Amino acid sequence: MLVTENLVKQYGDITAVDDVSFSASAGQVFGLLGPNGAGKSTTINCISGLLSPTSGQVAVAGHDVVRDGKAARKSLGVVPQEDNLDHELSVYENLLIYGRYFDLPYAECRRRADELLEFVQLTEKSDSQVEPLSGGMKRRLDLAMSLIHRPQVLFLDEPTTGLDPMSRLAVWNEVRSLNRQGMTIFLTTQYLEEADELANRVAIIDHGRIMAEGTPAQTVEMRVWTFVYFAFFILLYFISPGAKTKPLPERVTH
Ligand code: ATP
Repeated sequence: MLVTENLVKQYGDITAVDDVSFSASAGQVFGLLGPNGAGKSTTINCISGLLSPTSGQVAVAGHDVVRDGKAARKSLGVVPQEDNLDHELSVYENLLIYGRYFDLPYAECRRRADELLEFVQLTEKSDSQVEPLSGGMKRRLDLAMSLIHRPQVLFLDEPTTGLDPMSRLAVWNEVRSLNRQGMTIFLTTQYLEEADELANRVAIIDHGRIMAEGTPAQTVEMRVWTFVYFAFFILLYFISPGAKTKPLPERVTH
């Protein structure tokens, strides 16, 4: 459903994504876990078609994202890290305008907007302007918009960063519910617990490179073993007699 091969993205001298390959099958929740600046946003923006890769191939639902961008965009939805909302419009208008962007008939847009507002629990805010919404509500409206054209694959860039625990839980429940309905989901996160809660496959990225990939349990295990491995050699260095600090030669006095 989602295939990335040897993806590279450079910004001048900076290699933000360095030869990244992975794939996610239909119905999977794939989590890309890494610290700030690891290359998560650049990766998700390249595979969702928001950025052009420097090299490598990306395909979503069988469509090459670079060569067949229009078809790929119809099969995917994106919730970017920064909100995608028009702050001049109401909640409902944001949904309608976004639906029209995908050429949905007006009546169908209204039907789906009603359904989605209910799904993200924003029906009561339908006529509200976007500006006074809380961060969690804005994130959920972004999620609703990304779903208006019923994509097969959903991309979520750090969906809960900056949210309070209740809003985080609401987003988690919505992600789980979409996945239960069969949607393939690719999300980036800085939180191990989020990857553990939501994803059934995880890749760890740092300095633009994939460091480990597997089930959440396997990747945690790999990180623990890497730590134990290095700790063993550091310990060996300190306890080996040759490593002990040699006494300084006595000062030569005249
Ligand atoms: P965060 O969690 O902070 O969003 P991230 O893992 O998403 O971090 P990226 O935003 O993909 O990381 O950035 C990866 C690297 O690419 C960083 O070194 C960043 O400074 C650099 N970078 C990102 N965007 C640009 C840009 N437009 N121009 C130059 N360098 C960039």
